[in-house]
Amino acid sequence: MFSEINPRVSENKNVISFRQTQDGKHRMASSMNVAFIGLGTMGAPMVLNLLKAGHAVTVFNRTVAKTQAAVAAGATAAESPAVAANAAGIIITCVSDSPDVKAVVLSEDGIINGARPGSLLIDMSTISPGVTRSLAEQLAEKDIAMIDAPVSGGSEGAQKGTLSIMIGGAEADVERARPVLGAMGSTITHVGPIGAGQTTKAINQIIVAGTYWSVAEGMALGLKAGLDMEKVVQAVGNGAAGSWGLTNRSSNMIKNEYPLGFRVNLHQKDLAIALETARELGLPLPMAAYVEQIENGLIAKGYGDEDISAIARSIREMSGLEQ
Ligand code: NAP
Repeated sequence: MFSEINPRVSENKNVISFRQTQDGKHRMASSMNVAFIGLGTMGAPMVLNLLKAGHAVTVFNRTVAKTQAAVAAGATAAESPAVAANAAGIIITCVSDSPDVKAVVLSEDGIINGARPGSLLIDMSTISPGVTRSLAEQLAEKDIAMIDAPVSGGSEGAQKGTLSIMIGGAEADVERARPVLGAMGSTITHVGPIGAGQTTKAINQIIVAGTYWSVAEGMALGLKAGLDMEKVVQAVGNGAAGSWGLTNRSSNMIKNEYPLGFRVNLHQKDLAIALETARELGLPLPMAAYVEQIENGLIAKGYGDEDISAIARSIREMSGLEQ
């Protein structure tokens, strides 16, 4: 735990401040001026963690009411992404999809028209690697650097500051971002050049699709066989079949109840990014395509806001299990 001796950052510069630990020792920590755009399920708690770490944060959210908790915790609200970006050396976006990042970056009141030359954009949304590269090129023309830093770990990880952050970009920009990223995540991996973070996130979502779908098939077989499914999960969970999905989401599938978690809508969006990337690179992703189609069906039936373990609904229906 730290208490700030000099928590305020008065200029548009990243400064070094001293913090006092509980045992009274002073420690040097870099405190930065950060703009944060997109205070949704993920962004709102990420902002609170930035503030707790002593960064000065200017926020923008399209729905203004969602900035209230951040402002109460010490953030400053801005009226547009451009105004927020102008107040900071580091600008973070965490919005829904590729068109949304394009909107907050490229529109008339977007980041590109407010950020100062030499500033750095960290996009923490999950979007297309191709769109990421194109945005980075357009920003570079105005001397604004960009890295892509999508996350995994869910809303729980965002609240606890334990997100896994996968990064694409130039080494110097990643190093500049680290003090800020460290306030939000505990596993921070620089994977490669711009776009590599988004490609890594697509890989993450392909693996999630496969493990969840396999768990759903396994649960359906056990239920049809009339087995005690708690015992089944216990029996197979610590062997080669063990996975996060089996441990944490098989009970949803057994009970046929799917509280959040991670929404089907968002995972379907991420699989669509994986499939688009695969088309560009020239390779098939048959399992990802299959699960994406299953999720399309669930969304059509009104289950898009359920947790992705709801893919079990589909195999239950095919198996004649209770709906
Ligand atoms: P969310 O709760 O739906 O919030 C989306 C945020 O984006 C809101 O602040 C929304 O503003 C803003 N937004 C969307 N479109 C916009 C636009 N065109 N212009 C301006 N603002 C816009 O989503 P989330 O769960 O925080 O997810 C954010 C990103 O993190 C997504 O890319 C998602 O895939 C990724 N992610 C989510 C999770 C998770 O567990 N939820 C985990 C890992 C990664 P309004 O408030 O005005 O709607």
